[in-house]
Amino acid sequence: MSKDFIPAAKPIIGDEERAAVDAVLRSGMLAQGAEVAAFEQEFSQVLLDGRAAVAVNSGTAGLHLGLLAAGVGPGDEVIVPSFTFAATANSVALTGATPVFADIELDHYCLSPEHVASLVTERTKGIMPVHLYGHPANMPALAAIAEKHGIALYEDAAQAHGASLDGRRVGTFGTFAMFSLYPTKNMTSGEGGMVSTGDADVERTLRLLRNQGMERQYENELVGFNARMTNLHAAIGRVQLTKVGGWTETRRANAAFFDANLTGVGVPAVADGAVHVYHQYTITVPEDRDGFVKALKDEHQIGSGVYYPIPNHRLPSFDRVEDLPNTEKAAAVVVSLPVHPSLDDEDRERIVNAVNTLAKAGA
Ligand SMILES: *Cc1c(COP(=O)(O)O)cnc(C)c1O
Repeated sequence: MSKDFIPAAKPIIGDEERAAVDAVLRSGMLAQGAEVAAFEQEFSQVLLDGRAAVAVNSGTAGLHLGLLAAGVGPGDEVIVPSFTFAATANSVALTGATPVFADIELDHYCLSPEHVASLVTERTKGIMPVHLYGHPANMPALAAIAEKHGIALYEDAAQAHGASLDGRRVGTFGTFAMFSLYPTKNMTSGEGGMVSTGDADVERTLRLLRNQGMERQYENELVGFNARMTNLHAAIGRVQLTKVGGWTETRRANAAFFDANLTGVGVPAVADGAVHVYHQYTITVPEDRDGFVKALKDEHQIGSGVYYPIPNHRLPSFDRVEDLPNTEKAAAVVVSLPVHPSLDDEDRERIVNAVNTLAKAGA
């Protein structure tokens, strides 16, 4: 077959991004400066209903610094999902605290509030849900647990720019939240992360930690990092911020088309009151998932992704024995189809026909 390959993800970089980077290059002001400050302001207005935003050089750095700024450290426990990208638990471990792995609910693949509640100890400092695939976690139930025990809520919103629950945006629930700006995410700055917080002390500590602990030059107040975003990356992010709303609508329209036309596979559910931004459109294929992925690629020239094949607790880096049945089940059956805004009508038809054909053949 000679059809063009449809990739699982495709960052959209256009003339405006190139011109914005060129303007920064011409200015000579390459490192963190006015572009970064403007990006923070605009991100706050467009995606956070005005909550403060602090830019850093990766999403992972954002989680790490957010946890440190929230006072997480050795002796503390933070409850996280195991069914996520390793950066979630890595960032907890890097503070010296212990990530405690909780199970997920199979309908939306986000933390199970019931299981989280059973894991709270006197060492628990906070709960960090992931809005996985762009679907908001059950924040009201998790907030009730946090309030009952006097512990904090943090958000890994790496995949969920623009998602909301009951009209409230993700990134405005936790002490802090992190949005990744990696190229495959719903918007990008090349590499980068944005941390939101409504707590002025946490915001100030974040700004110190990303810049060697300095507010005034050479008067370091604490031991910090160089986690600064560059003006070059911020310039890309500012352009992308003007487009992310339209891209999200296209993702949602692509998802609605798949919902209406896929047969023989499990399609993603959406909770009442949730706005899903479809970082991934994740189906379930219970029979021979890996064969399905291979056939999609080899026979139909369609890319897909398995996020995530090995739950974090079983990675060599953590190597824990846990009983997380929904996590194990999800890891065995999920496949994410291309849902990105570059798909055209023909691509969407090809994806539906390929998936339905393979599902029928496997049944
Ligand atoms: C991408 C991602 C991260 C890390 O973000 P980077 O910008 O790649 O460092 C963390 N958590 C989740 C759930 C992610 O998808």
